[in-house]
Amino acid sequence: MATTSFTKKSLGLESVEPAVTPPTNNTSTSFAKKPKLSSSKSRKKEIPEGLWVKCPKCSTMLYDKELDENLKVCQHCHHHFPIGARERIHSLVETCSFQEMDADLSSDDPLKFPSYPEKIESYQKSTGFKDAVITGIGKLGHHKVALGVMDFSFLGGSMGSVVGEKLTRLIEAGTSKSLPVIIISTSGGARMYEGMFSLMQMAKTCAALSYHAKSRLPYISILTHPTYAGVMASFASVGDLNLAEPGAMIGFAGPRVIKDTTQSELPAGFQTAEFLLEHGLIDAIVPRKEMKDRLIYYLDFMLEGQRQIAAVA
Ligand SMILES: [Zn+2]
Repeated sequence: MATTSFTKKSLGLESVEPAVTPPTNNTSTSFAKKPKLSSSKSRKKEIPEGLWVKCPKCSTMLYDKELDENLKVCQHCHHHFPIGARERIHSLVETCSFQEMDADLSSDDPLKFPSYPEKIESYQKSTGFKDAVITGIGKLGHHKVALGVMDFSFLGGSMGSVVGEKLTRLIEAGTSKSLPVIIISTSGGARMYEGMFSLMQMAKTCAALSYHAKSRLPYISILTHPTYAGVMASFASVGDLNLAEPGAMIGFAGPRVIKDTTQSELPAGFQTAEFLLEHGLIDAIVPRKEMKDRLIYYLDFMLEGQRQIAAVA
């Protein structure tokens, strides 16, 4: 329920216009013109929530319900709209198989950063989440996996101590239960309100992943639009397989910052998943609708060796 409304909000990130009936172009009288500003606000309220969404890539008006049924992928040009963490989990795991972990873990305010607690509270209310990641154990086809899914609508998917701790606990659970770990990222980076505590999560999550790797268990990282900064520079880029969704923007610093710093023109398609695939940073681009089948296929392959070892032992 809440999921649908907050995903809509995150559409703003892509400068997608909210669903509106195309406005009538009645500018014939000054009377019609004057109240335009105030009326557009009240008008917005009157329009039933999310009937149509304009695709930012092909400009087709898409019926919201159909878009939801298509996992928020444009039927015409395959543009991938942002999708909420819960919807994403629902699209991957078997029905009723997902057992959420640490659902109530909520952020403290270690630096006494002005307005941080209020901010957290308001995001908790608007999203229905306690923080920017959902973690748990579920079944993907016949594979039991430890799955973490980030949500950009909670403070830009930023990684503070809660995101870091939840992911670390998830990875540790994966290690102790001998399960593959899959993390689906979308993030603007480390959460500035928690300063150094946020940065420490980069090392913490990676340390947990290295123990997981020592147990010869697979870790698949899935990069979705957008994945940047401290998240990309830690757990998101160290998968045994690094996958991405089509068109996802992925990087450390944003292109504008890099352009300003280097004072040079950036190549076409810079920081897109397609560009990074071509340059070897990611291993495959997987459309959202194929993600579940491809993950099962990869896990079959990656766990085959383990099965053989177990059979010999
Ligand atoms: Zn489209």
